[in-house]
Amino acid sequence: MTKYANLIPRFLDYVKVNTRSDPASTTIPSTPRLTDFAQRLVKDLKAIGLSNVHINSQSAYVYATLPANTDKAVKKIGFIAHFDTADFNAENIQPQIVKDYDGQSVINLDEAGKYQLDPAVFPNLKNYQGDTLITTDGTTLLGADDKSGVAEIMAAAEYLLAHPEIKHGEIEIGLGPDEEVGTGADHFDVADFGADLAYTVDGGPLGQLEYETFNAADAQVKITGTNVHPAEAKGVMVNASQVAMDFHAALPAHDRPETTEGREGFFHLYRITGDVDTAQLSYIIRDHDRQLFEDRKRLFQGIADRMNRAYGQKRLEVTIKDQYYNMREIIEKNMTVVDLAKDAMEALQIKPLIFPVRGGTDGSKISFMGLPTPNLFAGGENMHGHYEYVSEQTMERATDVLLKIVTLAEQRA
Ligand SMILES: [Zn+2]
Repeated sequence: MTKYANLIPRFLDYVKVNTRSDPASTTIPSTPRLTDFAQRLVKDLKAIGLSNVHINSQSAYVYATLPANTDKAVKKIGFIAHFDTADFNAENIQPQIVKDYDGQSVINLDEAGKYQLDPAVFPNLKNYQGDTLITTDGTTLLGADDKSGVAEIMAAAEYLLAHPEIKHGEIEIGLGPDEEVGTGADHFDVADFGADLAYTVDGGPLGQLEYETFNAADAQVKITGTNVHPAEAKGVMVNASQVAMDFHAALPAHDRPETTEGREGFFHLYRITGDVDTAQLSYIIRDHDRQLFEDRKRLFQGIADRMNRAYGQKRLEVTIKDQYYNMREIIEKNMTVVDLAKDAMEALQIKPLIFPVRGGTDGSKISFMGLPTPNLFAGGENMHGHYEYVSEQTMERATDVLLKIVTLAEQRA
């Protein structure tokens, strides 16, 4: 008999629904199937007994409130998860249950064994000895990212409603679309949400606690050449593709994703198109350090400026757009939100795993809107593909952490 009777059944129900977001869309949310799922969540959150359940019109997030049951002035804590799934097949998801995993066997996802979870390939499997694993059938992703977070937050709320003797402040719940296409948090409505501090429940394995992300920009270089017949090209032709290669070669060769780790930043060339006439280079620029991030953008622009001067005209046109910033800048000013999570995990004998994320989270944006929002583990492994899986026991532990955070906050108020 598990502590959270609805946690796993609800998770299994939710993952079977296709909520793949659409990166090509410009609507909010990106596809009508996300609106349908949001409406289902509204129904379910009301059924649990939560208050003020509504879809925020600005963000398409589903918001709900669990009122305080104490007179103490406890900070309002928010829990946020996303219900869309990555840009990967999500048609007819059939979760498979592997009971009492031995921590060493190869798991066949499909009957033919074309897709396998093999501890030799995925060594984290060894951490799940004795656990019940939920996997895919090899044809789809699972959607533990982030329906595990959704189910955990709902299970924690349900538990508190069933146990009024556990004292807590007001709790805000935010379940959102379009995290996977990078736009969900852009429209997050901090005022309507109403929390003082918050957590995204969207991390991976047991213990993950993230409050340091990249600073991020997208950078485009449009190159205009001069196309003449190769026979008469001498001194006249400017080959846009050659200019593109020269530009790329002028960037620091070591600063690429495939040669960096930890807090090392990079320039990542993710697309290149070109002929003699025109060429285009598409990059992302990343660095944890704000100053180094600004330096990288200046270096990038500076290479183009120098080349333009050498050509005597504007052959290269650079457009740089900031995407998000390192939330550490905000969170460092008041570490309460991190300490609370750390202490909660330690009280539950979970070792907090704190590392800088080489990416962003929804909290990177939400923190800069004034609501400090680190990221907590939700349990998923190998997200975004065939090999995604999650342990039921880790999902229960994640739910324990949410409850411990709200009770600690109440005790400390
Ligand atoms: Zn996620």
